[in-house]
Amino acid sequence: MRLKGKIAIVTGGGGGLGEGICLCLAREGAQVVVSDLDRQLADTVAVKVGEIGSRSLAIKTDVSREDEVKMLVDQTIQEMGDLDILVCCAGISGYSNREASSILIEDLPVEQWDETFAVNMRGVFLCNRTAAPVFRKKNQGRIINIASIAGRKGSEMLPAYSASKAGVISFTQSMALQMAPHHVNVNAVCPGIIYTPIWERGSQVLAKVHPLFAGSGVGPKEALDMVVQTSIPFKTYQTPEDIGKAVVFLASEEAREITGQALNVCGGMYFS
Ligand code: NAP
Repeated sequence: MRLKGKIAIVTGGGGGLGEGICLCLAREGAQVVVSDLDRQLADTVAVKVGEIGSRSLAIKTDVSREDEVKMLVDQTIQEMGDLDILVCCAGISGYSNREASSILIEDLPVEQWDETFAVNMRGVFLCNRTAAPVFRKKNQGRIINIASIAGRKGSEMLPAYSASKAGVISFTQSMALQMAPHHVNVNAVCPGIIYTPIWERGSQVLAKVHPLFAGSGVGPKEALDMVVQTSIPFKTYQTPEDIGKAVVFLASEEAREITGQALNVCGGMYFS
């Protein structure tokens, strides 16, 4: 019960990783506000948090909208009484709503670039920006931004996603410096590959347009399995709980001297 009594917001809390993070926080005693674009997904995870014995609240939020993010923080404080931990997990690959024709940069629609940055970067910026005054006033708090191993180095298949996640890592460092005088720790987690809805869609694009697989007849899940086998030294997928446990650690007293860091949870896929 390392987080007993703490109140946490998890954006994208209804998604694959988000659910794992919410449940890990709840198992350590945190009360969890499950925020997601999809209200039904948020409700489902909030019920699961309740079943663990923690108080929960589901809120529909589009993190790319300033008014909705403000409502999320205001409603959390009104209904839960406080805010101690912010986890920014909402994110998109950019391929969610689109057919990809190739990996060439000229085939990346400008709208797809903008959508990716609107959620992955602007969303993190807006959530950090809105929670910062709350934490500053309390002279304590924890912010954990979910970046990605894709933010550590470029990716030929996901240039917009990679750039947005590199931005999250850099922004996390800036926030850590700003918030250090107020005893607020700001860190990022860089997950490797977890088979969630983001990859259910992403693996279809991978199999269809990546030069290694295009036209080979290799199916989406098989293609992703091959990437895991060849690029992750442990040769295994990570799980939502692996990420949830890292978040719990960064939110706990044990991480009191850690700020501005980006923690890779990726089976050795990248060293830094
Ligand atoms: P996911 O299952 O698709 O979860 C993402 C969640 O964010 C979904 O519930 C999605 O709602 C929500 N969302 C999308 N746009 C939003 C918006 N504008 N406002 C609020 N919520 C929004 O994917 P995931 O794998 O759990 O990804 C979670 C985070 O981990 C993302 O930031 C992702 O980049 C990062 N990550 C994932 C992996 C991986 O291998 N899975 C690796 C590295 C990093 P909808 O379902 O309605 O779109």
